[in-house]
Amino acid sequence: MLSQDYDRIFLSPPHLGRHELNYVHKAIEDNWVAPAGPNLTGFEQDICHYTGAAHCVALASGTAAIHLGLVLLGVGPGDEVLCPSFTFVATANPILYLGATPVFVDSEPTTWNMCPDRLREAIEDRIRQGKKPKALILVHLYGMPAQLDQLLAIAELYAIPVLEDAAEALGSRYDGRRLGTFGAVGVFSFNGNKIITTSGGGALVTDNQEWAEKTRFLATQAKDPAPYYQHSAVGYNYRLSNILAGIGRGQMELIDSRVKSRRETYAWYQKNLRDVPALQFGPTEPALGSSNRWLTTVTLDPHYTTVTPEQVRQHLETHNIESRPLWKPLHQQPLFAQAPMYGGSVCADLFTRGLCLPSGSAMTETDLHRVAGALREILLP
Ligand SMILES: *Cc1c(COP(=O)(O)O)cnc(C)c1O
Repeated sequence: MLSQDYDRIFLSPPHLGRHELNYVHKAIEDNWVAPAGPNLTGFEQDICHYTGAAHCVALASGTAAIHLGLVLLGVGPGDEVLCPSFTFVATANPILYLGATPVFVDSEPTTWNMCPDRLREAIEDRIRQGKKPKALILVHLYGMPAQLDQLLAIAELYAIPVLEDAAEALGSRYDGRRLGTFGAVGVFSFNGNKIITTSGGGALVTDNQEWAEKTRFLATQAKDPAPYYQHSAVGYNYRLSNILAGIGRGQMELIDSRVKSRRETYAWYQKNLRDVPALQFGPTEPALGSSNRWLTTVTLDPHYTTVTPEQVRQHLETHNIESRPLWKPLHQQPLFAQAPMYGGSVCADLFTRGLCLPSGSAMTETDLHRVAGALREILLP
């Protein structure tokens, strides 16, 4: 059979359930198609209920949520913001929107997230240079909880407020608590490739009621309370539509089963590919952490193979299977060539050796066997 005869296996496609359409239908029937309405409120309540956050504001994207989150933390022109290098560019772009500078920090090899030692080093060095960082962005990459105990203790020691980019980590936990609720501000994304989706969307969560109100205000053009349009702050058009929030409500009914499925996919690959010594499964959960395993990621062990991740990717492509390199570190991006970086070898090595495997929650056992078979073809001598 030719590879074209197979259906394509995507990396992480949207996976809709049965109830999204009911919520969307109701919104149209009731004429609630603006960025306000019962789906929006309902979706925000669902997220609060699920995560334990006191307040949630649904927004047009995760990027918008990071942008407004940094505004809440007081980040402005000339400030420095600590940020992992090993992440998607959307984590750091809002730092630039605000005229601030990212200060990048390397990963540690267990969770692949920010290294506490490098973080301490970065903070002390910035202070020595006369400037304390204004905020710290923590990311839980691929859904994997960062070493929160250590990272939060350092942030607290230096009184640096934390924004938690949990865009990939809805449903993950640390010490029993949902990720996104550890920082002063937490952020989720409902982009099409994430564990649940609104087609495009995001949310900001916080326990600070004033901040939640300020976020709603800023996200709807910062209209002062007056009968005419009056503005004394810069506003944005960042609210999620009530239609899309309807998709989100249907998806939130399914979050537990989506997390279960992604975790099972990771376990399946790990079990069924243990005869392939070149494949190392990672990252690893920290002592108190549980990952939603948004994407199954692997690194190639150079002791067992000279094949590169790019060759594996191209080989999977001949079987009509999508895979993707790990995030290219931000300190290696032309966009951030001037930004300070603390460490760098850990995330640079992960990028050279790593690959994301298809991980969609609708994958069948047949799909998984197809991926495993194609990997065996190229990685077993
Ligand atoms: C997806 C993602 C974002 C941005 O979310 P959007 O909804 O796509 O704007 C931010 N950070 C990380 C780590 C992401 O994976």
